[in-house]
Amino acid sequence: MLLAYQGATLADPAAGSTDPQSPNVTDSQPLPKKEEESGLFKSITANPYFSAGFGLIGVGAGLTLLRQGLTLGASYVQRRLLVTLEIPSKDKSYLWFLQWMSQQAPKRRMQHLAVETSYKQHDNGSISTTFGLVPGPGIHYFRWHGVWMKVQRQRDGKMMDLTTGSPWETITVTTLSRDRQIFTELLSEAQEMALKKQEGKTVIYTSYGPEWRPFGMPRRRRLLDSVILDTNIKERIVEDVRAFIGNGKWYNERGIPYRRGYLLYGPPGSGKSSFIQALAGELEYNICILNLSERGLTDDRLNHLLSNVPERSIMLLEDIDAAFTKRAQADNQGYQSMITFSGLLNALDGVASAEERIIFLTTNHVENLDPALIRPGRVDMKEFLGNATEAQIRGMFSRFYGKDNKHLEDAFYDRVKDKQISTAGLQGHFVYFKDKPEQAVEQAEMLWTQLM
Ligand code: ADP
Repeated sequence: MLLAYQGATLADPAAGSTDPQSPNVTDSQPLPKKEEESGLFKSITANPYFSAGFGLIGVGAGLTLLRQGLTLGASYVQRRLLVTLEIPSKDKSYLWFLQWMSQQAPKRRMQHLAVETSYKQHDNGSISTTFGLVPGPGIHYFRWHGVWMKVQRQRDGKMMDLTTGSPWETITVTTLSRDRQIFTELLSEAQEMALKKQEGKTVIYTSYGPEWRPFGMPRRRRLLDSVILDTNIKERIVEDVRAFIGNGKWYNERGIPYRRGYLLYGPPGSGKSSFIQALAGELEYNICILNLSERGLTDDRLNHLLSNVPERSIMLLEDIDAAFTKRAQADNQGYQSMITFSGLLNALDGVASAEERIIFLTTNHVENLDPALIRPGRVDMKEFLGNATEAQIRGMFSRFYGKDNKHLEDAFYDRVKDKQISTAGLQGHFVYFKDKPEQAVEQAEMLWTQLM
């Protein structure tokens, strides 16, 4: 700043006039231009401040060139020697990778951490919470299998994932290109680790915007034995589903969409949902639950959801009748269901889908269903789950109190056989009289007097 100021002063014509060769301002004959310039140049170069200024400019320019050279060099090296892997937050492996990394990187040295709360369900059913620390936004370095890696977790402040409302994020992993095969190993290890956590569990998915999201924590598998249906119903359905699952080729060869529909109907509390959960557990499948009277569900979204069911999942449309009766068309807040009946049929037919699809529909009011909805091809098997039958009453009694209480079981059955009791009601009664079979028999009338 100072030099510039002095330079400006030097360039002042008054200063130039001190030079003996400088032109007289009053002279009417101007000197030739060249001489004028050289005079000015000399006066400038003779000045130590000014030449120092030029020197500095030269050094500055040199440094800028060097810096540009280094940047170019670095980007060249990066292009030729480094390889990067980008994982956007929308991708499935994003969470897997974060969890995996939290196990790898030395947390003590990490500066930015983010919390991730996880739940653990114990065998007795209780749940405990643990807080895991995962790498937060920023740059992290770590070594895995002898290879150094740089991980950059970036959050884009402007972009939002509209379906979840969370900021858009990307993880970029960089390593030397000769080690590129490490990415595949790393991702499969992360995936394996994540799937191990789900082993022996059933994941319940619900719709979240246009996609499926796990709902709560994976649940412990429900055992088929814990659901007591009337004789042979369970066996029939399980056998049918198993035969379907192994038969993709048969459908393919005949050009038939590879899907099978089941309808479970009957009064509430007869075990429809519980059975589907146990079936999923038995087959080691997950469940995608969709409520057709859900707010904001349109034909397009329904179609999209049904065509993009996660692998190895049973699709469950609960209370299928509710979406098209007056009850649900306008809920208590005046909301109108937006799917149309033909939209539902199209989505169920899912012409585009070549993938295996198992759909369960449940309803408490089969009489309200349009026959088009349950015609063969859309629903291939229908089963009625009603109020408790003799086999179910006895089965549930012995499941709760053991097989050694035969006389109490007979007495209990005698007392309730003429009543209409739901299996859910029976379960409630036996839980209430836990370990007290005599009282469960004595007070059997609670089942109908208290409307269990
Ligand atoms: P639905 O779907 O038919 O309305 P749920 O499956 O939701 O009935 O059952 C409600 C509750 O009653 C669950 O806790 C379930 O364990 C119990 N339950 C109902 N029916 C049965 C059954 N047949 N066997 C065992 N438990 C049953």
